[in-house]
Amino acid sequence: TYESYPYDKVLEIRKENISPAVVTYYKKPVLIHQGHMQWLFDWEGRRYLDLIAGIVTVSVGHCHPKVTVAAQKQLARLWHTTNIYLHPKIHEYAEKLTALLPEHLKVVYLTNSGSEANDLAMLMARLYTKNFDMIHFRGGYHGGSPYALGLTAVGFYKQGLANGFGCHTTMCPDVFRGPWGGSHCRDSPVQTTRHCSCAPGSCQANDKYVDQLKETLNTCVPKGIAGFIAEPIQGSGGSVQYPKGFLKEAYKLIRERGGVCIADEVQTGFGRTGSHFWGFQGHGVVPDIVTMAKGIGNGFPMGAVVTTTEIARSMSQALHFNTFGGNPVACAVGSAVLDAIEEDGLQKNSEVVGTYLLLELAKLRDEFEIVGDVRGKGLMVGVEMVTDQESRQPLPPEEVSQIWEDCKDMGVMIGKGGVYGQVFRIKPPMCITTEDVDFGVAVLREALGRHMERRRSNLR
Ligand code: PMP
Repeated sequence: TYESYPYDKVLEIRKENISPAVVTYYKKPVLIHQGHMQWLFDWEGRRYLDLIAGIVTVSVGHCHPKVTVAAQKQLARLWHTTNIYLHPKIHEYAEKLTALLPEHLKVVYLTNSGSEANDLAMLMARLYTKNFDMIHFRGGYHGGSPYALGLTAVGFYKQGLANGFGCHTTMCPDVFRGPWGGSHCRDSPVQTTRHCSCAPGSCQANDKYVDQLKETLNTCVPKGIAGFIAEPIQGSGGSVQYPKGFLKEAYKLIRERGGVCIADEVQTGFGRTGSHFWGFQGHGVVPDIVTMAKGIGNGFPMGAVVTTTEIARSMSQALHFNTFGGNPVACAVGSAVLDAIEEDGLQKNSEVVGTYLLLELAKLRDEFEIVGDVRGKGLMVGVEMVTDQESRQPLPPEEVSQIWEDCKDMGVMIGKGGVYGQVFRIKPPMCITTEDVDFGVAVLREALGRHMERRRSNLR
């Protein structure tokens, strides 16, 4: 209770007994007491609109009643057997999940996290192809476990020790920060960036980025590769979108070299991008392996790898043991999450409210010189902060943080990301409403206005 663990005591224990690698948001971290749908409440009863959902994890809403009841029911019946006996829950879940994927993606391996899922996907890619080398984008985040960390290419998360043998980064085809492209090259309802020189409909940026991938494949790696992993929209990298058609060409190049294509749907899956249930569908590609976590369990620790029968068979020469993966409680939760997405119309809500959010945020881009780019699909949104729209230099992280702290003080929690810490990430629970968007955008507008005032007075 709060009486036995008041704020100062919690902070003290945090400093003393919790690893310093576990970061907290905000100079004065918030002591959270409760969550309800798109709202969080602290111990003093302050309410916050949660626009980052525990880093894109709460998909259907904090403590969604249907999911909570499903978990409670299962908790009262059976928690655990390590899958050494048959239990209906895992089978029910596997059936429901695979029904949402292309037909050939039908074998499920349940894990407890996204890092585990990506570890396993990499293992499968290597065993199946009998090749070793993996290709991944700079700016991509695929996990923090020693294996998956090799696929993560955001400097903040690298511990500076040997990792990632055989993992090769290639240029992220970022049409805002990269050397080529503009907003019309990507799939988003907002057209906001001004720097692109290629005409709509004939995007040469895509060809240039594809050339970069070709160069990596031709010069940096052996002829045969194990696989390629990409998020359909980069999450931690700052909601980065690629030019339309890029992934299609990339998948072709990878497959020509014997590799398999892995879609990391940890952030983009389960209806978040609005137009589609899976992010890869928005690119017109069909992966060989799909990895999932976060939104899959609405905050319950859970992850999954789904692949083809042939790829899954490559692991059958040995056991792969995961004590908790696929436990009955996780499966009950996962199943209720799928029902809630369907029954509450959350994919559609992501599309409708997400588009409204993007268009409202685009107005901020027009009002403030320091808002460089507004992008995304559905409720997978990024607002890239710059010193000015002309130079597109990243706004220094201290300045980004000041705006972010002000938003929190006014009752709105926003995420941060980007390789320079320059992007606000807005990825709320998918139950958010247009009224919430109005409130969130009004708060961000106020915080940006205050910051422009600070900048002006520093210049004086
Ligand atoms: N892939 C992506 C795209 C992620 O965003 C994350 C987590 N931020 C992971 C994998 C790793 O997931 P977890 O933290 O559950 O291990």
